[in-house]
Amino acid sequence: MRSEVHMTDHFQIRADLHTHTVASTHGYSTINENAAAARERGLSLLAITDHGPASPDSPHLWHFHNYKILPREIGGVRMLYGVEADIIDEFGTLDMDAHELSFCEWVIASYHTACVSFERTPALVSQGYRRVCENPLVDVIGHPTTAMFPFDCEPVLKCFKEAGKLVEINESSLRWKPGALENAKTVYRLCKQYEIPIVLNTDAHYAGLIGVTPLAEQLLRDLDFPARLIVNLDADRIADMAAQKRGIRFHDCND
Ligand SMILES: [Zn+2]
Ligand SMILES: [Zn+2]
Repeated sequence: MRSEVHMTDHFQIRADLHTHTVASTHGYSTINENAAAARERGLSLLAITDHGPASPDSPHLWHFHNYKILPREIGGVRMLYGVEADIIDEFGTLDMDAHELSFCEWVIASYHTACVSFERTPALVSQGYRRVCENPLVDVIGHPTTAMFPFDCEPVLKCFKEAGKLVEINESSLRWKPGALENAKTVYRLCKQYEIPIVLNTDAHYAGLIGVTPLAEQLLRDLDFPARLIVNLDADRIADMAAQKRGIRFHDCND
């Protein structure tokens, strides 16, 4: 059952699509703890996205290879087992190739300062993002608001839309990364202007933060951002995407 969400109401994401666990050493909760927190918060879908191998705190690649043993649902929460892959250069190269990514059910591609060595000019970061758009396995562009990776917002955001990549609004960045809030205003104003779909994620590194998005909510409300462009306000839209792209089937599970 899908429901219309109005920006005048308090809103709650129903799918948190960027969360970490103890598999990333600066994450502090387990998969089961994350799933329980999601359920408590009223979410019906959760993606586990620990860091790719270029990050200093990433799990071994076997972590991703073994996802097949994990349950499709935990306590009624539909689960996607994925990765926050690192974009490691100005050519959009990821730290996991197509074979490695084939084990993942949800792929975020993010720039992190610890994982790159090129000079982070807008031209080179933009080029990197454009090349990521050519990778069919990437679902989401992670936190494209950090001041450390400036890019040419308007043309690159249009490129994300054309390539079907979801643009992330990241609660953790807004809360803890200097400059992210101002950059986010620019990015999301353009997303509204050009009708670019976004996902609103927590990037939680602790279960208690899953589904909690007060700063992003305020930002989107201030911009009068159209609710229909926030894809994960409706978990079924994500489930549909997972089904179409990767053939993932959940049991009947109403949102
Ligand atoms: Zn990140
Ligand atoms: Zn993250």
